[in-house]
Amino acid sequence: MAGAFNRKGSTVRLYRKRNEGGKGLIGIEDCVRLEEANLAQYVQNSEEWLLQEVREMGLVASVETGEELKKRRDAERKESLLGKPLHGKYFATVEKLADEGDVDLDRTWQWLKGGFLTKASEGYIMAAQEQALQTKWRKSTIEGSEDEDGLCRICGKWFETVKHLVSGCSELAKKQYRIRHDKVGSRIHWELCRKYGIECASKWYDHVPSSVCKSKDGLFELGALGTVPKRLLGFLKDLGIPDVIGCMQTCALLGTQRILKNALSI
Ligand SMILES: [Zn+2]
Repeated sequence: MAGAFNRKGSTVRLYRKRNEGGKGLIGIEDCVRLEEANLAQYVQNSEEWLLQEVREMGLVASVETGEELKKRRDAERKESLLGKPLHGKYFATVEKLADEGDVDLDRTWQWLKGGFLTKASEGYIMAAQEQALQTKWRKSTIEGSEDEDGLCRICGKWFETVKHLVSGCSELAKKQYRIRHDKVGSRIHWELCRKYGIECASKWYDHVPSSVCKSKDGLFELGALGTVPKRLLGFLKDLGIPDVIGCMQTCALLGTQRILKNALSI
């Protein structure tokens, strides 16, 4: 699969819509059942006498329309994924934060809707969100390896979960998190430089800010796994710069991928 799917990842997520955090594939069984439902609907509504005969004989019948079938399958998959303690934890957290008004769910999945990442990077981030990457915590707890203590290979103080590696390790915070943060912030800095006529590189990705802009309350900080705070767009508007959330999100996710790959290869 060329890295597009981690074998320990969620198969339920494969068939969820991309604007809801899924991979957007269509299952073969779904495809067949949908065609059956649509055919039955056509026969039921047809005024052709031959098809009316078919209807009378009860050869094709469906209790739900194609749309109803799709909605039911989506709802079943959502419930199944949210109920999974390992694969569904990130989803459950994000949904809860969205319900509380802290997270913009629509923008959080923008990286999937827009297809900004390569298939390999997309698959890696998805595996990270599903805690499917081979961390030491996973090895000791989920796989029950007895000769594994599960502690972080970098700092050795805390359990080595994906969450710890992407945003909670004191050793990685010294350099790796700062590099990622600066790259995300540099897009805002570049836009502000252009707006106020301050000298800057012609392309934002070549821009090296003299000092990285950061709001005191961390309003514009993106989640390490792509979560978008509800107030981010308003913050950019207040600064008078364009909506560059997609670009910032891509930077954050690529930075997270680099941090995870480096840490897990040690
Ligand atoms: Zn650590």
